[in-house]
Amino acid sequence: MGKRLKELIGRRSLLQAVTATGLLLGLGGIASWTSRRSAADPYLVRPPGGQDEARFTSLCIKCNRCTEICPEDVIVNAGVRDGPLVARTPRLDFSLGYCDFCMDCIVVCPTAALLPIRKSEAKLGIAVIMKDRCIPWQWGGCTRCYEKCPEKAIILDEFKRPIVVADKCNGCGLCKLVCPTDQLRSYKPGQTRGIEIERT
Ligand code: SF4
Ligand code: SF4
Ligand code: SF4
Repeated sequence: MGKRLKELIGRRSLLQAVTATGLLLGLGGIASWTSRRSAADPYLVRPPGGQDEARFTSLCIKCNRCTEICPEDVIVNAGVRDGPLVARTPRLDFSLGYCDFCMDCIVVCPTAALLPIRKSEAKLGIAVIMKDRCIPWQWGGCTRCYEKCPEKAIILDEFKRPIVVADKCNGCGLCKLVCPTDQLRSYKPGQTRGIEIERT
């Protein structure tokens, strides 16, 4: 074999090794990102009866029946950003609607991924005040979530700042829906609501 040919083969092997290593590192990174994201995303809140995440994801066939029937339009499809394993499963988006526990989604679910549950027992998640965004925690003047919460799960402190009473909150999301933070602070890029619903 000529010297030139040996050099070429050596360079090609090196290139292949570098490419393969890069690919493996990339795949490893993606795998660890997706598992971190789907395992820990606190904002991936499910419709009523889907709170056991492992059970829910093993039974949901992504048929969209719950999304279509929801009268409050609060159910959306999870995206690839939520993790490839949960993409297209139903999640609740409380910037679009809230859950009034009509239970229509449970009725149409063909696999019992959404288990029948009584409203009094349902707890979709829990409201958490984002103090860096909530208007009265920054300045003052808004009590909208306190006024609208159907469970009286929000109280006001001595400065009229909202506080969530965890035991009373069922995660319906009405507080987030009515929160005006993203409109009032729209001059700041990336502003969202002053309250979020985290899964429990
Ligand atoms: S219970 Fe009713 S309002 Fe709540 S997510 Fe299901 S269909 Fe929508
Ligand atoms: S999620 Fe529903 S019950 Fe909980 S604080 Fe908000 S409005 Fe009240
Ligand atoms: S509605 Fe939003 S901004 Fe107003 S008090 Fe509640 S969380 Fe804060």
